[in-house]
Order: sequence, then structure tokens, then C-alpha cells
Amino acid sequence: MLKKKLNIIQVAVPTPLRRKFDYLLSDTINPDHVLPGMRVLVPFGRTKQIALVLGKSSKTDIDVKKLRSLSKVLDTAPILPEEIIKLLNWVASYYLHPIGEVFQTALPVHYRKKESALEQNLTLWRLTELGRESDWNDLKRAVRQRSILEQLKNTADGLTREQIANEQEGHWQAALKTLVEKKWVESQTVEPVLLKNKTNAEIRKNSSLLLNEEQQIAVEFLIKNGNCYSASLIDGITGSGKTEVYLSFIERQLEQGRQVLVLVPEIGLTPQLIHRFEHRFSVKIQTLHSGLNNTQRMKIWQQASSGEIRILIGTRSSVFTPMPDLGAIIIDEEHDISFKQQDGIRYSAKDIALVRANNANIPIILGSATPSMESLYLCQQNKMAHLKLRQRAGNARPPEVHLIDVRGQYLQHGLSRTLIDLIKQHLAKENQVLLFQNRRGYSPVLLCNKCGWISYCHRCDSKLTYHRQRNHLRCHHCQTEQPLPPQCPDCGHGDLSQLGMGTERVEKVVREIFPETEVIRIDRDTTQRKGTLQSMLEKARDGKKQILIGTQMLAKGHHFPNVTLVAILDIDQGLYSIDFRAPERLAQLIVQVSGRAGREEKKGQVVLQTAHPEDEMLNTLLTLGYSGFAKKALAERKELLLPPYAYQALIRCESNKIENYQAFLEYCFQVMSSLKRNGSVEKSVGESDIQFLGPVPAPMEKKAGKFRGQLLVQASQRKDLHRMLNDLIWNVEANKAAQRIRWSIDIDPQELY
Ligand code: ADP
Ligand code: ZN
Ligand code: ZN
Repeated sequence: MLKKKLNIIQVAVPTPLRRKFDYLLSDTINPDHVLPGMRVLVPFGRTKQIALVLGKSSKTDIDVKKLRSLSKVLDTAPILPEEIIKLLNWVASYYLHPIGEVFQTALPVHYRKKESALEQNLTLWRLTELGRESDWNDLKRAVRQRSILEQLKNTADGLTREQIANEQEGHWQAALKTLVEKKWVESQTVEPVLLKNKTNAEIRKNSSLLLNEEQQIAVEFLIKNGNCYSASLIDGITGSGKTEVYLSFIERQLEQGRQVLVLVPEIGLTPQLIHRFEHRFSVKIQTLHSGLNNTQRMKIWQQASSGEIRILIGTRSSVFTPMPDLGAIIIDEEHDISFKQQDGIRYSAKDIALVRANNANIPIILGSATPSMESLYLCQQNKMAHLKLRQRAGNARPPEVHLIDVRGQYLQHGLSRTLIDLIKQHLAKENQVLLFQNRRGYSPVLLCNKCGWISYCHRCDSKLTYHRQRNHLRCHHCQTEQPLPPQCPDCGHGDLSQLGMGTERVEKVVREIFPETEVIRIDRDTTQRKGTLQSMLEKARDGKKQILIGTQMLAKGHHFPNVTLVAILDIDQGLYSIDFRAPERLAQLIVQVSGRAGREEKKGQVVLQTAHPEDEMLNTLLTLGYSGFAKKALAERKELLLPPYAYQALIRCESNKIENYQAFLEYCFQVMSSLKRNGSVEKSVGESDIQFLGPVPAPMEKKAGKFRGQLLVQASQRKDLHRMLNDLIWNVEANKAAQRIRWSIDIDPQELY
């Protein structure tokens, strides 16, 4: 008997199950109308789900009789190109995350909902012949209709609803409807590809600066390697002109008809970068970030997919945006930890970008004044080109850095005499001073002087911070708030001490010492309202004599030409930490904050207050600079067999009861230990050397009322690690008791809490 050829469609369904699903294609659907990258409706359990087609086959591992049929095809063309499907498959297998959730995360929200057909934004409205020829003067009283006609007159292809809405007010929808009924205006639905703009003949708006020699060498190198995969690190001190190098390289990629993707840590903190791009190029540039609503995101996604947007500047999730002519990826401030997602799929946008560039055979450029150990390691391995910019561009000179030993000095609310004198000197010259304190609020601890009561959060293993202006205590980990107790809740004593310094307290003290000087405090509390950050930054940039106080929001990327003194009030917070990455982070912070000083002709000075002036890491950083520090730090990691010389995964678990997370992690530990003993993890080079650290409580065991624990797994071979974890997942998913617990795997964890 001749067997009928099966049409099996493999799809990704948004569920926490780590597998793909097979469906049958019934005779009513033409197989040619189902392509990878299209959305389909499938029966799933008792509901229907939107799934994404990954591939087709004539075989399946499932009993054919049990297979269900696909209900409906939702798209007429793929919404995801093969390139992105391949990338997302890699993401699912590398981060060991359910593939359906990976696709769900990568797609704009509108695509995940049934109502939103692909055409939603792609209906274009335009004038008909009749509309063009009719006498518009008859519309004197119909202002809205007239206004829409005027708007449409200037376009050949027509405008989308959003474009019309941008210029019209009031009841324009009704007016548009009337025009359609009169047959003066018609709508037409187009496929996104038709919208594709021909590359603008005019790319450059303003010409580039005259590059210095180091910049020139870097740009030439990039251009020489611009037509295929190559990874380069631009390791350039703050103000050395990295951005200028990107711009020159981007210009040449645009000339070749390519699109460019630029990943940045936080859009809100990079207005100057965006402004420079817009100043330089006349092509369509768009930013993509979490501040946009779903409709805006969808539109940008479609415009990038159609090739209309030539430069996309976005935060980490932008790495998934389809761009058909993609010709380069740039990651600015590549050391920034915001490129790593800390919940859901714990992906590193940087690593995904490297894989994407490799798949697409295009260059990728990472830039930083303080490169991550991972990137420096890749340079050592010759997997990444190391391009150094060691001079400041233009006339700017690098700042001097000093330590202020605060031992034995009287601190006036956290400020040493030495520092206060320095601030006076700089203000006397009408310059700006920047004080950095990486802690919000007024004081991080409240203490009873009689019984020793301390303001702990009852939901977390952490202390409540006193916020003076709102006069309450707040937990920075779970956002719990409570009024300031008038006396000690335990013994009733009235004398509660506020210990430690937050930015709010620094501001108060500074205003008292320098009553004549304008003070601007920039942290998350003062910039909550939309637009306040921008206006504060503008004020800070006007260069008038000022004291700027801020948290890390002030440390990133800003250019304050008139700041000549930068002080980090308390670096000791970062000196002693259990995290092996803490020295790297502290060194990056110090260098980044220092980089805010002396950006123009005026020479800058940087001071760090510390009670540990003998600290080795600090002294290495001060005498040998970041590159000297990095060399030493890498050597130490190599000796201790820590990343990037080993590969880690962190299994995290949380639960209402300590016993539950302990039991789960113990189970994981037992499963993996026996896998290791039985040799199911192959020995690739010599002995399989998988190590376990834990199970242990998380550094903050209790957070927001939940108890958390972790188990660190480390191996010298990535393959071993992945194979072990895959086996573990297989076991956990087959274990009923384990399914009830909240747990996650973090591949290449960046923070160990
Ligand atoms: P980075 O990105 O490394 O911090 P930028 O590209 O922002 O450096 O450059 C720092 C400053 O120096 C900017 O104001 C920029 O306009 C200026 N600059 C950069 N390159 C040059 C150059 N070749 N000649 C003159 N000024 C330059
Ligand atoms: Zn007390
Ligand atoms: Zn809390």
C-alpha cells in the first residue's frame, strides 16, 4: 500500500516546556502557504495558541495518530527571517530555555495576540484620482477633511494611520471615513517589503572631524575587515574619540547599502550619543527601548524589518530585531552589565550579538574605556582584534587621580576636610564639582542608641533606608515602605541614629557648607518624573559653577565640559565583596566616574575617599591604569580557574520555605553528582572536571518574603557543562515534585545573588 506523504509542521508554542511541537497539516491548507517564520494557530491542551513555524518535515517521532492538526495560518509572509529563527534556536539551546518562551520574548507584543494581524500598521491611505481632481474649496467648513487631503497630497505611496494621526487632531478618524465614502481617499494593504526605502542617496549630513592617528588606524582596520565576520574591541580611554570611530565606520557601511545596529546600555542616559548620530547622518535613525509602548515598538520592528530604518540604536532586546541588510553591530560601553538580562531568559545581548554577527558574516565592534575581562580574554586568544586609543581626542588631557586617606580625619557627614578644601578651590575658579555616592536616600541604616535595634526589612535580609524628604523608611530590594518610627519600636527610646550616607544626605550637607552654590542631585528619586533627567542634565551641562551629586546615573557617558573635580565619597563599599567580579566592577566604576572630569581644555582632578589606601587593587589601578589592573586581574582569574578561564552556570531556586529550596537544590546536586560518577558526561580533555559550589543560601537569602538558594556549577569545558545541565533538566522535568518549585538556570552568571 502506498503511504501518503505526511506534512508535519514543527512549531514553537509559548509554554515553559523545553521542546518543539509537531502538528499535522490538513488537506484544507496549502503546504506552500506555510513557511518558517509565520505564525499559526494550533490546538494546545484545551485552548488554542499562537505558535511560530520553525520548519517542515515528512517525519515525526510522535505517534501520528496522536498528532493534532494545525488550525489556521495567521500570516501571508514570514514575520521572522531564517536568520533570526536560527539565532533564537541557538538562544534556546545555549541558555537552556524553553524555545516557545524565547520566541515569545523576541517578538513584539502585538504579534503574540490574536487580534493583531500582520497588516495592522501596513494599511496605507492615499488620494484617489477623483480626490486629486475634485475642488477642495467646497470643503471650507470641513476643516479636518481638508487637512487630511493636504497631508496626503504630498505622498505617492500613501500614509499609515499612525502617520496621519501624528499630524491631525480631533475627530480626524470620522473625517477620513467620510473621504473614503466619497471615494476621494482609498486604502491599500501592502506587504512590508514594498515599503522598503531605496537607500538614501544622501547619507552624510555633516562631515567627520579630522581623525587623529590612532583613530585613523582603527577606522582603516575596521573598513579593511568590514565585509565579513570580524570582532574588534575599541579599547579607548574616555574622550579618546571612540564614538567618532564608530561614526566613520558606520558611514562607510551605509554607503554600501547596509543597515547598522547599535546596542547601548540605557537610552535615557545616552541622549548625546543619539544626537551625534542624527547630526552626522541623514538616513533614517530610530531608537528602540523599554520606554516605548507596544504600538511604537511594533512599528519600529516593522520598519527595521523592511529596511526602512538604516540605523537602529537600542537596548539589549534590540539584538533580536530583524534587519535584512544588516552590515555591522556596534556595542557601546560593552562592559556594562545591563547587556545581561537578569530575569526570564538570562541572556547576554553581547554574546548573542557575537553569534548573530558570525551567522550573518558581518563585523561586530565592542567599545569601552574599561573593557570586560571576557573581551580582553578574547583579544588575548586572537578571537577579537584589540584596537587601542590611548590619547584624548582634541585638546583634552586625562585627569590626575589621588586617594584621600580618611583614617584619623574628622568626617563632616562623610566629607573629609581635605575634600571640602578641594571643593572650595575648584568652585573659586568657577568650575563644576561632581560628587559620586552610589546610594540613594538619606541614610542606609537607623540604629537605636540604647538597645541596638536596627531598621531591618521584615521581608528581606536587608536594612531599610531612611528617606528624609518623604520622611519614611524604604527597602531598596522589595520597595516596602513604612513611616519613620518616632521612637525605637523595641525599647521606646527616643534617640535613633541615622548611620551612613546616601545622596540625599550628601546634598543636605553640601548645601549647608556651600550655601551660595547651586546643587543638582541626580538619582532615581529626583528623576522619577518624565523629562526631569533631561532638564537636569541640560542644566548641568550649561557649565555654571555647580556641585553635581549623583549615583551611577551620573557615571555613564555624560559629557560635562566644565567639571574639573570628581570625588568618589566612599569606595570602600566595593572593596570587600564575596563576588569575584567585584574588583573588576569597582575599577570600571572608578575609571568611568573619573572620565567625567576634564573633558575639555581644563585639566581634571579625581579624588577617592578611602580608609584602605594600602589596598592592592586600588594601587594597581592608580599606578598602572585600567589596562595594568586588567592584566593583573586576568592573571588572578587564570590562577584560580575562574571565568573567563572556566565556564559557570548558577542554578537558583526560591520558595516560601527554606526546606523547599534546600530540598530542590540538594536533588539537583545528587542528580548531577551521579551523572558525573556514571561518566554520562563525557571526558573531553583529560578528566571531566565539573565542580559544584553549594547548595548554599543566596547572599541575600530572604528577599520580598521568599527564601532563595543557589548551586554553582563550573567546568573548564563549556560542552561538559551544557551536557550535564541538559541531563539535569531532563531529570527535573520528569520529576513531579520538582515541577512545583520556582527555579532557573543562569548560564554565564554575571552577578552571584
Ligand atoms: P569617547 O566616545 O571615546 O568618549 P568621543 O568620540 O565622544 O569619545 O570624543 C570625545 C570628544 O572629543 C567629543 O567632544 C568629540 O567631538 C571630540 N573628538 C573626537 N575625535 C576628535 C578628533 N579627531 N578631533 C577633534 N575632536 C575630536
Ligand atoms: Zn531601642
Ligand atoms: Zn525588603
